[in-house]
Amino acid sequence: MASKEEKEAVHHHVLMVSFSAQGHINPLLKLGIRLVSKGLHVTLATTEVAQDRMFKSFAAAAATTTISSVSDIQLAFFSDGFDMDYDRKANLDHYMETLGKVGPINLSKLIQQHYHDKQKKLCCIISNPFVPWVADVAVEHGIPCAMLWIQPCSLFTIYYRFYNNLNQFPTLEKPDLTVELPGLPILNPQDLPSFVLPSNPFGSLPKLFIELFPNMKKHNWVLANSFLELEKEAIDSMSELCPIRPVGPLVPPSLLGQDHENLFDVEIQLRKPEDSCLEWLSNQADSSVIYVSFGSIIDLSAKEMEAIATALKNSKRPFLWVVKKPEFPTADKSGEIPQGFFEETKKQGLIVSWCPQTKVLAHPAIACFITHCGWNSMLETISAGVPVIAYPQWSDQPTNAMLVSDVFKIGSRLGTNEDGVVNSEEVEKCIEEIIHGVKSEEYKKNAMELKLAAREAVACGGSSDRNIQLFVEEIIGS
Ligand code: UDP
Repeated sequence: MASKEEKEAVHHHVLMVSFSAQGHINPLLKLGIRLVSKGLHVTLATTEVAQDRMFKSFAAAAATTTISSVSDIQLAFFSDGFDMDYDRKANLDHYMETLGKVGPINLSKLIQQHYHDKQKKLCCIISNPFVPWVADVAVEHGIPCAMLWIQPCSLFTIYYRFYNNLNQFPTLEKPDLTVELPGLPILNPQDLPSFVLPSNPFGSLPKLFIELFPNMKKHNWVLANSFLELEKEAIDSMSELCPIRPVGPLVPPSLLGQDHENLFDVEIQLRKPEDSCLEWLSNQADSSVIYVSFGSIIDLSAKEMEAIATALKNSKRPFLWVVKKPEFPTADKSGEIPQGFFEETKKQGLIVSWCPQTKVLAHPAIACFITHCGWNSMLETISAGVPVIAYPQWSDQPTNAMLVSDVFKIGSRLGTNEDGVVNSEEVEKCIEEIIHGVKSEEYKKNAMELKLAAREAVACGGSSDRNIQLFVEEIIGS
C-alpha cells in the first residue's frame, strides 16, 4: 500500500481528447482551465492539423497574463493519418472513417509514452462527441472516462431517446409528427435537429451518434457545456436514463465577470480576428448596434445574403456583420456581400471577415445578435445578456432557436418560406421588434436574468462549480 508521502507525491493528471474544430477544442480547453484551478494537471490532445494555431493562440494568451496555470495545461498532438495539406472537409465520411481507425492507435501510443510513470497517474480521459472511439481506448487502458457534451442538454435528451429508439420521431410516412419528450416543450419537425429528420441524410455525422448514444455506458461521467438554471427540466429528465452534469457555460472567464480570478483566458482562433472593430464599437451609442454572424461553417446563399443586407440597410441602424472569406468561392455567390452594399453602407455599419466575438458581445454598444444559433454563440450571447434573432440552418441549431424563443424567451426566430429561406421584410420586422417591439423589454429582462444566472453557476459554490468539484473528487478517488 502506498505511504502518505507517496500518495501526496502523485500528481493527478487528466487527458482531454478533442476533435480538431474550434467549437470542440475551446469548450474542452475551458473545462481544462477550471480543472487546473482545482489542482489537477491537464493535457489537451488533438490531431496535428491544429498544432500550429493552438501554439499561436497559447503564445498570444501567455504573453498577456501572469497567471501561473498556463504551464499546467500541456498540449499534445497525434496524427490522424493524413498529410497536413490534405483537405479534410472534401470527403468528411472518408476522413471520419480513417480517423476512427488511426486515432485509437496513435492515442494509445501517446498514453504509453507519457503516462507510464506511477507518479504521473492518469485519473481520467475526457473526450467530446466526434471522437467516440476515445472511450474504447480509455477502457483498453483501464482508465475511467468522461464525455463533455458540447451542445445543449436538451439535444442530449433528444439524441439519446432517438438513437435508443425510446420515442417516436417523424418518418418518411409521417413527416409532420410532433414529438413529446419529458423536460421539453412539444417539438414540431422544424424544431428538431436536422440529423434526426427522415429527409436529411448527413453522411458520417449521424452515423457517429449511432455509435455514441447506445454506447454511452462506456463513459463513467457525462458532463455538459450548459448550466442547471438554463435547462433544469431537460437535465432532470435524464437523471434516471443517463445522468448529465452541466459544468458551464464554458466561455471565457472575462465574459462571466471572472477576469480577476486565477483562470487563464485563452481561446483557440481558427481565423485571425479584426480587433479594430472594438474601436469602431466604442464610437457607437450604447445598445445601438445589430451584430450579425453565422459562425465558422455556414455560408448563406446569395438570396439570404441579399435579404439580410437589404434589411440592415433599411433599418438605418449601425451594424457589425461578420462575412467570412469563403474558403472556396462558388459560382452562385453564396456567402458573398451583395454588390454595392459595402459602398452604400460605409457610414452606417462595419463588415469584418472575423471578429473577437466574445469581446464584441460584451461591448455595451451591442443591441442584439442575428445568429445561426451555434451552441458556443448561444452560450456567449447568454453570458453577455444580449437578445437574439435566430436564423438556424442545420444540426442542433433549429432546436437551439426553439429554446431561444420558447424556453429562454430571449428573442425570436425568423420566419421563412417552405425552403427555409428568409426575406428582407421579415428580417426588418424582427429587428424592429427586438429593439422597440412589445416584447423587447421582456427579451432584455430575460437575457439579463440569464446572464446573472450564468455568472452564479460558475462562481465558487454555484451549480456548475459544485459539479466540477464533485467530478474532481470522484476522479481523484477512483
Ligand atoms: N467566432 C469568432 N468570431 C467570429 C465569429 C465566430 O470568434 O467572427 C467564434 C464564436 O465566438 C464561437 C465560434 O466562433 O465561439 C462559433 O461557434 P458556434 O458553436 O457558435 O458555431 P459553429 O462555428 O460551430 O457553427
